[in-house]
Amino acid sequence: MIVGIPQEVKTDEYRVSLPPDGVSELVRHGHKVLVQSGAGVGSGFLDEEYAAAGATLYMDVDSLWQESQMIVKVKEPQASEYGYLRPDLILFTYLHLAADEKLTQAMVDSGVSGVAYETVEDQEGRLPLLEPMSEVAGRMAAQVVAAYLTRPQQGRGVLMGGVPGVQPAHVVVLGGGTVGTNAARIALGMGAEVTLLDINLERLRYLDEIMPGKFSTLYSNTANIIHSIQTADAIIGSVLIAGARAPKLITRDMLSLMPDHSVIVDVAVDQGGCVETTHPTTHSDPIFFVDGVLHYGVANMPGAVPRTSSQALSNATLRYILRIADKGLEEALASDGGLMKGLNVHHGSVTYAAVADAFSMRY
Ligand code: NAD
Repeated sequence: MIVGIPQEVKTDEYRVSLPPDGVSELVRHGHKVLVQSGAGVGSGFLDEEYAAAGATLYMDVDSLWQESQMIVKVKEPQASEYGYLRPDLILFTYLHLAADEKLTQAMVDSGVSGVAYETVEDQEGRLPLLEPMSEVAGRMAAQVVAAYLTRPQQGRGVLMGGVPGVQPAHVVVLGGGTVGTNAARIALGMGAEVTLLDINLERLRYLDEIMPGKFSTLYSNTANIIHSIQTADAIIGSVLIAGARAPKLITRDMLSLMPDHSVIVDVAVDQGGCVETTHPTTHSDPIFFVDGVLHYGVANMPGAVPRTSSQALSNATLRYILRIADKGLEEALASDGGLMKGLNVHHGSVTYAAVADAFSMRY
């Protein structure tokens, strides 16, 4: 199969869908890989590395789209890319169609086959192509807390690990899934004291057993949240109720209970946030204050570490890319029910119920 890797065109997106080592795997399987010149530069992968991996470099992005049988991307097609969609093209990328009616209509009208990373499931029903970005965002959240707790960044002026004779930072993590667990692990590694709250008791039992350092768990209810945030130097918001908006666990009136210049990193901001006062921000303008509390609400945190994120993403996507390229789309879907869940648009129809429901479209 001919597989195309275009440069991402969305603003502030520096990731690339396949690093050179992913390209060489495809080439080893007998596939031809077309890479747009400069596609990897934002992640620190040079054209020469792609060429050495066996890619054919294209300066002309129009030809790359036209000659590819499958395009592998990171972000959903932007308006400037809609014209490339066509019936005999497979598009494998994050699509998030339920949030974008225009794109959904463009994909339906074009007849393209769109497989969305975010709805592919593994055998346990988990979302293996979302998980790596949650790992990145979680680990990064702890680093963000550490940076914004310093005074020059307008924080309380607290060192994560403290020093002998001085308390470490107290970090409260709301939600102990992939983001929360990774955030807690890095915060603990920096020497902070971490309190993690979740409603899933099994999860709390598990984390209580495996987590190192100054770690404790609390069942997530309003009383326990109020109790824990009063001594919090920082809160990391990482709850998720699948398919729904995040519950508002911290309301505005609770902010006055928190110390002045404490920090909230609401990673769940992409689902509306679990803090009433958060709103989405960007890497170029990441923070704002409400009632003396610093808020960080960047909705695409992994975009700040594109090299790590591109590698983590392709570690998870490569096996599916290979399966589709080796078998062709129809056979690959027929042999893997979890991959089939990724198919969102096919031959001019929406094939994923939640997307069809979002726009009252035929399913
Ligand atoms: P996950 O499903 O692995 O974990 C969510 C956890 O929240 C679960 O353990 C669940 O039991 C818990 N939870 C649900 N309701 C709760 C409540 N009332 N109190 C406490 N805990 C509760 O999800 P995840 O992969 O960790 O993702 C968390 C959030 O981070 C999602 O909204 C996801 O979209 C977002 N995210 C954001 C970015 C970003 O760049 N901002 C990147 C990746 C993920």
